[in-house]
Formats: sequence, C-alpha cells, structure tokens
Amino acid sequence: MRPVNRGPRPTDDTKNQLKVFGGYGDAREDLINRLGRYCCYCNTRLTHAPEIDHVKPKSLHRHLETDWNNLLLCCKSCNTSKGTQEIDHLFRPDRDNTGRILSVDHGALVPHPSLGDDERKEVSALLTVFNLNGMPRSIGDSRLDDLNKAQVTAQRHQRSFNDGKLDVSDICNIATQIGFWLAWYQEFANHPDVLNALNHAFPGTALECFAPDGTTVARPNGRC
Ligand SMILES: [Zn+2]
Repeated sequence: MRPVNRGPRPTDDTKNQLKVFGGYGDAREDLINRLGRYCCYCNTRLTHAPEIDHVKPKSLHRHLETDWNNLLLCCKSCNTSKGTQEIDHLFRPDRDNTGRILSVDHGALVPHPSLGDDERKEVSALLTVFNLNGMPRSIGDSRLDDLNKAQVTAQRHQRSFNDGKLDVSDICNIATQIGFWLAWYQEFANHPDVLNALNHAFPGTALECFAPDGTTVARPNGRC
C-alpha cells in the first residue's frame, strides 16, 4: 500500500484563496492531480472516474464530508468493502508508512515479514476491511488477480533491466501504466535508483517515508 501525501488544501487560483468544496465530488480533480489515478488502498490503476473515499466515514463524521484531509481516491471494490468501517486505529496510507507493512506473495497481500505480532494483527485487520485478505471475493473484483499479474510483469522486467534491455525510465513508464506500486517497489528492492525513480513517478508518493537509498523509514507523526 503506497504511502501517499495529498499535500495542503488546494488554492483557487482566480481567487487566490483556499478552495472550499461544495460537495466532496468537487475535490476529485485536485485529488487526481495530487495522487494520480490509482486506488490509495489496493493501488490498482483507475481507468474510470475514481471514487472518493472518506478515510473517516462521512456517515459517522458528518463535519469531515468535504474536508480535504479526509479524502482519498479509491476503486469501487475498496470503497464498497470499506463501507462505514473505521481504519484510523489501524494504518492509513495518508498518515503512516504503509509502504513497509505489506508484501506481495504470488498475488496475495500479506503482512511484511519484518513486523511484530501486534502490527501483523493490525495489518490483517486492515486487509479484512478492504476484503484483500484472499477470502472469497465478489464477481468482478479483480484486484488480487491484477496484483498477481503486475508482480509477474515486474519480475520479468526486472530481468530485462538486469540484462540492460530496459532502463530506469522504461521501468517507471511501464509501472505507472500498470499500477500496483508495491509490486514494483518490492521487485526492485536492490536497485535504489529505480526505487527513488518509482517513488517520484507515482504522483503523491509520501517521499518522507523513504531514505536516500530508497528503503522505508518510519513516517514522521505516523504509526509506522
Ligand atoms: Zn482499491
């Protein structure tokens, strides 16, 4: 799960003041500009109009319905699975370094091997919220299948990269077309130049979550 930073509330250039969103849908274009067309939870690339997720559910936090800092982009499957569930006590991609909590294993998302027992439980609970824990999925939910394909593609391109047939910008172009940041980040773990380039190529990656060599570090003010 890519850690993201949506940045400060956008300004209205014509009025030179902070934007006030009449409805949360009005924030969609600004969120796309900041975060790219990717689901902030499963990291699938969004080919249709992204859905808007209220990190803190709007039905339980009415005053946050149009709050810039409560909005993220997501896919229909993640949005439907999350529903009105809270994740604030677990991990949030816009607050924590969610780049260090998961591994991709043959298309399955599993807690990162470096985590302790308590963190692993929280990650498992987070995957359950989004129905990304490998349990039976609804018809049309291709998130984990697509993740598996992305991982296989990343592995193949990593071999081509090692053979000198692809360069860093090739990898970034392909990765941003396919999505699933973690699949790429994981496969190129031994290539700091690729990791840094990937983090810059995906819009809105929280760069404060990474050391100069591309490895993850604890996020300031985050839970991990
Ligand atoms: Zn999703």
